[in-house]
Amino acid sequence: MKMGLVTYTPEKVEGFDMHVYYSKWVDGSVFPAAEEMQNDVTCFCDAKTIRENPDLVAVSKSGLALRKNRKVNTPFDFVCPTNPDYRKKIFDYIEGLNKENIEGVTLNLYHFPEEEFCVCPRCVELWRQSGLNWTGWRAQEITSFLKQAKDLVKGTFAVEMYPDPVLAKERFGIDFEKIAELVDYFHVPLSARDYTTNYWVDLLVRDFTRILKKPVVLELSAEMPTNEKLDALLKTVAYVSKQHLKGVLFLVHDSENAKQICRFAVKNTDFRAWLRTYEFSEMSQIVDDWAKVC
Ligand SMILES: [Zn+2]
Repeated sequence: MKMGLVTYTPEKVEGFDMHVYYSKWVDGSVFPAAEEMQNDVTCFCDAKTIRENPDLVAVSKSGLALRKNRKVNTPFDFVCPTNPDYRKKIFDYIEGLNKENIEGVTLNLYHFPEEEFCVCPRCVELWRQSGLNWTGWRAQEITSFLKQAKDLVKGTFAVEMYPDPVLAKERFGIDFEKIAELVDYFHVPLSARDYTTNYWVDLLVRDFTRILKKPVVLELSAEMPTNEKLDALLKTVAYVSKQHLKGVLFLVHDSENAKQICRFAVKNTDFRAWLRTYEFSEMSQIVDDWAKVC
């Protein structure tokens, strides 16, 4: 199992062998490519673009896909995914990234905001013309967007997802079967303030590694400063290291944040004894490797 980082700064850290850099954010910020890293592109969540051009937002009977609309529980502001001009903007950006020496591209938030979206006049017309049912049409739109994006990527191609193993197709248009044919791996983010309660991480990792037909990389939040939270995080990684994961990524602020986690694990003799006692051999090896570099 590989260990890696998801960061907001384009710098690699020793001790980690997967590096994902957020190059386009949900607030609309766009950054140059990070060399030799996996560049993570937020597709249809773009607060800045919607502020500048409110007509682009996705629509439902319960109103617009905006955070301020509390009738719908969307975490971000969503552009309608069938807008051809906005899609072109994303494709142009992906094309630009691939002119640089990057490892590859990961897409996130490339789907519909929820089941009842989008019923703008263009989407309703496209759905009507397709002859498909609502779920089938929405999934087809998202899969075809991903196919076009993949054609622009010369390296590793991966997607994140809203981590719902059962209803992803109905809710978001995410068709795991079809998408598996396009991607090198699936990136499953299970974000939390901490992992002191962690049964749900184990549960979702078991479900996703069973149903997804490509390797699975798990992302856990690691911006936590306290020893108790770091201890819970590392034990959660130990538990999931017994599942069939390609890797675990820590979401961190910066490289110092990542080094702090390595140092905490290496110096924590109780944790290392716990790993030996309960035969977490893979995790023990990871911490031994960290001891050589931090
Ligand atoms: Zn629409």
